[in-house]
Amino acid sequence: MERCPGSPRPDMLPEAGSLWLLRLLRDLQLAQFYRPILEELNVTRPEHFDFVRAEDLDGIGMGRPAQRRLAEALKRHRSGLKSKNWVYKIFGGFAPGQKETTPPSDSLPSLPEPDGRLKCLIPDRAVCRGELLGSGCFGMVHRGLWTLPSGQTVPVAVKSLRVGPEGPEGTELEDFLREVSVMMNLEHPHVLRLHGLVLGQPLQMVMELAPLGSLHARLTAPAPTPPLPLALLCLFLRQVAGAMAYLGARGLVHRDLATRNLLLASPRTIKVADFGLVRPLGGARGRYIMGGPRRIPFAWCAPESLRHGAFSSASDVWMYGVTLWEMFTGGEEPWAGVPPYLILQRLEKDRARLPRPPLCSRALYTLALRCWAYHPADRPTFSDLEGLLQEAWPPEGRCVREVMEPGALRMEPGDPITIIEGSLDSTTWKGQNSRTFKVGSFPASAVTLVDPPPATRPVLRGTPARGERHQRNADGDRGKAKLQDAPQARGQRRNVALQRTKGISKSLESVLSLGPRPTGGGSSPPELRHARTGPQGPPGRPPHLPMATSSSQPPRERPSWPKREPPNSHPIGAPGASKAAIPSGGPLSDPELQRRVMEVELSVHGVTHQECQAALRATGGDVVSAIRNLKVEQLFYLSSWSRADCRRILERYQWDLSAASRYVLAQP
Ligand code: ATP
Repeated sequence: MERCPGSPRPDMLPEAGSLWLLRLLRDLQLAQFYRPILEELNVTRPEHFDFVRAEDLDGIGMGRPAQRRLAEALKRHRSGLKSKNWVYKIFGGFAPGQKETTPPSDSLPSLPEPDGRLKCLIPDRAVCRGELLGSGCFGMVHRGLWTLPSGQTVPVAVKSLRVGPEGPEGTELEDFLREVSVMMNLEHPHVLRLHGLVLGQPLQMVMELAPLGSLHARLTAPAPTPPLPLALLCLFLRQVAGAMAYLGARGLVHRDLATRNLLLASPRTIKVADFGLVRPLGGARGRYIMGGPRRIPFAWCAPESLRHGAFSSASDVWMYGVTLWEMFTGGEEPWAGVPPYLILQRLEKDRARLPRPPLCSRALYTLALRCWAYHPADRPTFSDLEGLLQEAWPPEGRCVREVMEPGALRMEPGDPITIIEGSLDSTTWKGQNSRTFKVGSFPASAVTLVDPPPATRPVLRGTPARGERHQRNADGDRGKAKLQDAPQARGQRRNVALQRTKGISKSLESVLSLGPRPTGGGSSPPELRHARTGPQGPPGRPPHLPMATSSSQPPRERPSWPKREPPNSHPIGAPGASKAAIPSGGPLSDPELQRRVMEVELSVHGVTHQECQAALRATGGDVVSAIRNLKVEQLFYLSSWSRADCRRILERYQWDLSAASRYVLAQP
C-alpha cells in the first residue's frame, strides 16, 4: 500500500497503539515484519489490512504461506473486536458473507470491492426529485431521476432524512444510516436495491424505484382497480419467503414485514423494503432483544416480541403469517378494533389467531397458523415455507362449460379458475375466476384441473437461514405442535380497508401501558415494566445485547452550516490554491470569487453554494483549504470520528471523499 503524501506517521495517529500488531506477528513468528508493515505499509490498525494487497506483502518480503497465516490470524483478531463495537455491527458486521468468506488460497481475504460497501456516493446534482411517493418515519420518499456519469438516466426513489430546525433526531439518523448500511450489503431479486447515498442536506438514499407502489396500496385500491388474482398472491408469498430466507441467512431480522413494506417493482415482482427496523441476530439463540422502548408494529408482532421485545427469524415468520392474512383480506388491518394492550392477551391467554379470510384456502390458512405457533421453535423457517407453499398452492383449473346459475360463480368455457376449496368427492367447489376476479362457488363438473402436480412447479429455494438455524439450535427440536384452528378473534372487523395511519407502529411501551392493565396472560412482565421506566434494557438481559450500546454512541447529528473552521495548514499559493483572498464575511461579487465558489462546489460531494461561500470566507479565499475543510465536515458528519481523525483519513486517501467515506463506514 502506498503511503499517501502528507499522511501522518503512525505514531501520530490517535489510535496508533501498534502493540496489537507486534503481538499478532510474534504469535505467528513473523515479528521481523513488524517494522516494514508499520512503516512501509503504514498499517496501524487491523482494518488497514483491508487495503493491503498480497503484492504489498510480497514487496516487504513476506512469503505467501506467511501471508495466509497472517490473514487467518487477522480474521480471528477482528472477529474478537467486532462483537464489541456497534458501529462495526452497523456498518460492517451486517455482511457476514462478505467479511468471513474463506480466503482464496493465495491471497489475503481483505480487499472488499469498494462497491460492495457503499454502492455509490451520488452527487446531489445528479439526482432530480419529482413527485412525492409517500412519507414514513424518517422523512419523505420522492420519485426521482438519477443521471449517471455516462449521461444515462435511471428512474429511482429518493428517501430523504427528515431534518427539523435542530437537525435530524439522533434515533432517526441512526435508523436511517442503519437502513443504508443494511441495504448496501444486500443483493437479491426480491429485496429492494440501494443505488447509493447523497451526502447532502438532507441525507438521501437513492433506491430502486418500485413504480407500482406498495402492495398494501394495491390491495386496498378502490374500484375500478381489479383485485389481485389469488395465484399472483401466492407467487408474491413465495418471492417474499425467498427474500426473507436470504435476510435470515445474512443474520438479519427484518421486524417490520407487512404489505406496506412490500413494493411492486412490476406487476409480478415484489420486493421486500424498509430496512429501518432491521437488526442483526446475535448470539447462540439467534435473537435480537430490544434495548428500550421503540416503536414496533404491534399487530404484526409475535407474542415473544410483544412480551419480551425478542425478535428472531421466527418472529419474522410470524409477521409473514400476518402479511399473508393481509394479502387475502384485501389489506385489512390485523386485530382492527382490538386495543393494543389486549392483543397479547388474545394471543397468549385466549390462544386466538386471526380468522381465516374467505379468499384463503384451508391449506394456506394452515400454513399461516403454523407461522403463528406460540413457540418460536415450532414455526417453520422461511426455507421450509418455500416448500410448504408449494404444497398449499391453490390448484388451477379451466372452465369447460358455461355457468350462469343464480348464486354460482359465473364463468365461460376457457376461463382460468383458481380453486380455493374443492375435493374430488365434493360436487361444489369454490374458486376465483381469473378473468373476472370474482370469487364464488360453482359446480365441480364445470372445471377441469390443469394444474401440474406440485413437484413439477419451480421452487426458488433460498439458502438455509443462519438465524433460523440459531433458533433451532437454541431451543432444541420440540417437534411440531399439532395444528388446530385457534378460536377466531371476536370483534374482528371484516371488509374494512386498512386506513394507513399513524398508530400501526406503536412502541412496546404503548402496547403494554395503554388502557386497563390486562389480567392473566396479558399482564406485562417485570422486565417490561422496567423497560418503560429506564432508558436501558431491563435487568437480567444478556450483558452484550447486539444493539444495547448503540444508544451510547449514535451517529452524530449534523451541525448547522456554515462552519467557521480556521484555515488548515495548506499554504495559500501552493499548487491548486487560489491566489486572491476573500475577506472573512465579505461579499462575494467578484467573478473570480464566484469561480472559486463554483470550484469548491464541484469538488465536494453534497455541499451547497452557501456552504462553499462560507468555507471560502473561513479560509480567506483559499480554495484548496476550503475544499478540504468541507470534506472533513462531510466525513465528520457521516461518522463518529473526530474532525482531526477525519482529516487524517482524508489525507490518507489523498482527499478522495468517496474512498474515505467507504473507509469510515466500514470501521469500528
Ligand atoms: P416507515 O419507514 O415509517 O416504516 P413507510 O414504509 O411508510 O414507513 P417509507 O419507507 O419512508 O415509509 O416509505 C414511504 C412511502 O413511500 C411508502 O408508502 C412506500 O410505498 C413509498 N416508497 C418507499 N420506497 C419506495 C420505492 N423504492 N419505490 C416506490 N415507492 C416507495
